[in-house]
Amino acid sequence: MTHELIGIDVGGTNFRLGVVRDTQVVWEQRFQADFAGLCRQSSSGEALDNILRTLLDAIAQARAAYPSVSSIGIGFPGFIDPHTRCVLSSPNLPGLLNVDLVAPLRAACGLPVVLENDAAAAAFGEYVLSGQTRGDLVYLGLGTGVGGGLVLRGKLHGGAHGVAMEIGHLIVEPAGRLCGCGNRGCLEQYASASGVQQSYFAATGIKLPASEIARLAACQDDAAMRAFEQAGDYLAASLAHIAKVVDVSEVVIGGGMSAAWPLLQPAFERRLEHDLIPALRGKLHVTVSRAQDQAGIIGAAMLANEEKNI
Ligand SMILES: [Zn+2]
Repeated sequence: MTHELIGIDVGGTNFRLGVVRDTQVVWEQRFQADFAGLCRQSSSGEALDNILRTLLDAIAQARAAYPSVSSIGIGFPGFIDPHTRCVLSSPNLPGLLNVDLVAPLRAACGLPVVLENDAAAAAFGEYVLSGQTRGDLVYLGLGTGVGGGLVLRGKLHGGAHGVAMEIGHLIVEPAGRLCGCGNRGCLEQYASASGVQQSYFAATGIKLPASEIARLAACQDDAAMRAFEQAGDYLAASLAHIAKVVDVSEVVIGGGMSAAWPLLQPAFERRLEHDLIPALRGKLHVTVSRAQDQAGIIGAAMLANEEKNI
């Protein structure tokens, strides 16, 4: 394969676009774009127009540098309808309800365009980078929230409603913290960057960014260490459930919070060993992503390539 593919990883306040060749990102640019603020302040139609215009400008820049790109894949933070590929809703981009990004982008670019949930795209990226061809992989993405993805026999498993592996909403503490989904005690209220912030705030009454709490934990600050321990503990409890359901050996942990893995790891390993059934103990191969945050770009690009080849 010598042609190039575009992969886009959309976040709430910026997005990154990469040109991918042979599973390597050969060109990458970060674009500041406050889609979250835009969606809060504008009507759904205005927000959609603005998002489309912004993405098209970025795509045009990439195509100017790489005219032979043959498809575009987008990882998007929201629930994607598995049949229509419309964005059903996006917790971080409120107001976007059942909107179609794919058809207008396809029409404007004249290229195949594929849209996938951002964590699912990252899962596929990790799978591609693992070098497997018909294997299985579970991806746990720790960022502002917690997402996940499942690849089975080389195919991304999205589920009947596009919400397979919405692991951030596995309930780990009944009657715990209120979650944006309406339930209490969801994993992402503890194991995400904002979850760690909440844990630290609950213990100290001080609001700090997760990166600062990580720095304090590395200096043996008790409350900071406990916030990360709790994150690792609940993440492992969730993975033990997932493993008992899907029985997949390969597990990759990614997302911005995975940089703090040494702070999560001891509690994670203790709880995982405890919660797994004997048949699975010692059998899970858990690694931290080495994709330097490019898994979402690579996965989105490769999913678009797959679709084009069908
Ligand atoms: Zn929830």
